[in-house]
Order: sequence, then structure tokens, then C-alpha cells
Amino acid sequence: MTETTDLAPVREAVRALCAAFPGEYWRALDRERAYPEEFVAALTKAGFLAALIPEEYGGSGLPMNAAAAIMEEIQASGCNGAACHAQMYTMGTLLRHGSAEQKKRYLPAIARGELRLQAFGVTEPTSGTDTLGLRTFATRDGDHYIVNGQKIWTSRAEHSDLMLLLARTTPREEAKSRTGGLSVFLVDMRAAKGLGLTIRPIRTMMNHATTEVFFDAMRIPADNLIGTEGEGFRYILSGMNAERILIAAECIGDTKWFIDKAASYARERVVFGRPIGQNQGVQFPIARSYIGMRAAELMVREAAALYEAGKDCGAEANMAKHLAAEASWAAADMCVQTHGGFGFAEEFDIERKFRETRLYTVAPISTNLILSYIAEHVLGLPRSY
Ligand SMILES: Cc1cc2nc3c(=O)[nH]c(=O)nc-3n(C[C@H](O)[C@H](O)[C@H](O)COP(=O)(O)OP(=O)(O)OC[C@H]3O[C@@H](n4cnc5c(N)ncnc54)[C@H](O)[C@@H]3O)c2cc1C
Repeated sequence: MTETTDLAPVREAVRALCAAFPGEYWRALDRERAYPEEFVAALTKAGFLAALIPEEYGGSGLPMNAAAAIMEEIQASGCNGAACHAQMYTMGTLLRHGSAEQKKRYLPAIARGELRLQAFGVTEPTSGTDTLGLRTFATRDGDHYIVNGQKIWTSRAEHSDLMLLLARTTPREEAKSRTGGLSVFLVDMRAAKGLGLTIRPIRTMMNHATTEVFFDAMRIPADNLIGTEGEGFRYILSGMNAERILIAAECIGDTKWFIDKAASYARERVVFGRPIGQNQGVQFPIARSYIGMRAAELMVREAAALYEAGKDCGAEANMAKHLAAEASWAAADMCVQTHGGFGFAEEFDIERKFRETRLYTVAPISTNLILSYIAEHVLGLPRSY
């Protein structure tokens, strides 16, 4: 499946921008676990982070496959889109379920780069993958909601103005359906910091700006509820397909980066009087990675096309994410092996990308849960959890 629209100009423009942010830039930030402010500012200024915002709100109104191409090229250039990818995938919830008033209030400012929507608060320490078991509670109080609870792994919260928050608004046992009783809010963190909102960074094995977030009687205007109270899980699920497609595209980009790096090194590195890439033991793993990447790429394109057509793409988005995350992790391992000792040297960037791409078989959804989804929803097997 070739790309249905000509995305070459978008791809070239992203590559050109990323060329100004080479390995040294990312290594320096990685050592300090610092946020890539200049990179995010450049992407914002060029309009890439507003790719999915409709033109009437100041964005470029591009389809999902263009957004996926942007994220892929960022990773394939050796950069790290994790610093800003959430703005792309949280957007779907606001676009599809936000009111006209909410879109008018937030989207143009996001498109102009004055507001960042980079934080997505779903996961909690006690419930983990069992999203329906989350405990953060928003209680209606006149024209506000009062929020109490805690999130974990809320990435980029310190570098975002807005957070898309999933909270319970009806106790689980009183909800009308199994998935009912959860609601989505757009939280203006600028107004809430110090007034019931506390953000604590979590240092991880890679530079990811992730945090834990505490809500202690944090007030949110009722106007910031997205859609209908109690329907939030459904809205988040539809947004998650976009998230899976975009993360899968990032993994494709990573896989391409590892393959390029490994193939170039295997052509040039001479041991025993010949290039190491002349040995099948070295070239086969690279070829295997390439095959895995191409197969995953096809599934990403299929999922993006279905998403864009407004069709159900749950299975394809999950399969795309699974194939692409497995491909990028396998390629990362292959790239280290191909480089021998140099694979571990910081200046080659491989160990950094290796740590970064490791995340994606765990987050935003872990491999087991994707397999469970396919078993239950595609193969009709009994629900296992
Ligand atoms: C760096 C980082 C950034 C993140 N960013 C965000 C973010 O911005 N916003 C956000 O909301 N979340 C974020 N997450 C959270 C991420 O989505 C979760 O870590 C992920 O979904 C797994 O949930 P968990 O960590 O609670 O694992 P758990 O749910 O505790 O699961 C642990 C392990 O058990 C397995 N498991 C659990 N239940 C089953 C079952 N029934 N069958 C088979 N296997 C099972 C899982 O597959 C997993 O391997 C981030 C996580 C990390 C590490």
C-alpha cells in the first residue's frame, strides 16, 4: 500500500527542520533530562503540531496519514517526538467531542503556539491498565467540578498549559453501564498550579519529562467538561486509536533510523579484511528488521486510512502499534549488535534511541493488552480480564 496522498513535501520539510537538531543536541538534553524547548518551538512555529487542527481554527487541517508522516520523519531523523506527540493525539478528543465554544476558545491559541495541549492524564498508580478502575473523582459543585485524586506517568505536564483529564464523575457501582461514569475535562493547569494541582517529575531511563500529578480539591470550571458527563471513556477510546496510529508511525521512524545506521556501519566497518555486512550473520538481522518495518508500515497506513474515513479502526490501530513497537525494539537490539562495542558509546546515539524506543511495547498500551484486544474483539475468544 503506497501513500494515498503525496506526502513527500511534508516529509522533506520535517527532515529539513530536524536537520537543525542533530545528535549532540539530544545527547546534551538527555544527560540533563531537559526538555527540548527549541525543538518543540521550531515544530510549533512551522505549524507541524497543528497539523490536525482544521484550517478554520488556524491549523493546517491535514489528515491522519500526514500527521503520522510528520511523527515518523521526526523519529527517522534521530529526534524524539515524545516531547510533543501528545498534542497530536489528544487533539482528536477535543475535535470530535468538544463543543463549538471550546474549540473556538482553545484551538486557535494552540495553533498559534500560545497554548500547549501536551498532557494526557489517564493512568493511575493503583488501577494501571484497568482504566475503568481509576479513582480520581470530579464532584460537581455549582458551576465547577472539584477534583481529588492522583495520576501517574502524566508526561510533559510541566511543559504543557492544558491537560486532558479522565476522571470518575459517578461511583463505579452507580454507573448505568460498565464503561459509564467517567468524564473528560480540559484542565487549564496554569490556573490550577498551586491551587490543588501538584506536579512531581519522575526520572526514567530516558528523557521523557514524565510526572506524577496530585489533585487536592482542584477546581475546574464546568464549561471545561468535554461532551456529556459520564461518556468520557468512549471519547478517550476513540482518541486512543489516533494515539496508537501516531505512536506506531513514530516506531516506524525509529526502525528506519536503526536500519539506516546499521546498514551504513555494516558497509563500512572492516573486520577480518572485509566489511562486516558481507557476513550473512550480520546482514540477515538487518534484512529481517527491514521486512518487519515494511509490514508494520502497511498496517499503519491501513489504520490511518480507516481512521480518516471515519470507520472503526480499533483492530488495525492496535495491530499497527503492536507490529511497529515490536519492529522498532527488534531493530534497536539489532543495531546495537551490528555496532558491537560502539553500540554502547553515547556519541553514536544508538544507546539513547534504544532506551527511547523501548517504551513503546509498554506504553501507551502494553503488548499483552493488544493481544487480549485482538483475541476478544477480532477472534471472538472469551474476555480474559
Ligand atoms: C515513560 C512513560 C510515559 C507514559 N506517559 C503516559 C501519559 O502521558 N499519560 C498516561 O495516562 N499514561 C502514560 N503512561 C502510562 C502507560 O500507558 C502505562 O504504563 C501502560 O499502559 C501500562 O500500565 P501500567 O504501567 O499501569 O502497567 P500494569 O497495568 O500494572 O501492567 C503491568 C504488566 O502486566 C501486564 N498485564 C496487566 N494486566 C494484564 C492482563 N489482564 N493480561 C495480561 N497481561 C496483563 C501488562 O501488560 C504489563 O506488562 C506512560 C508510561 C511510561 C512508562
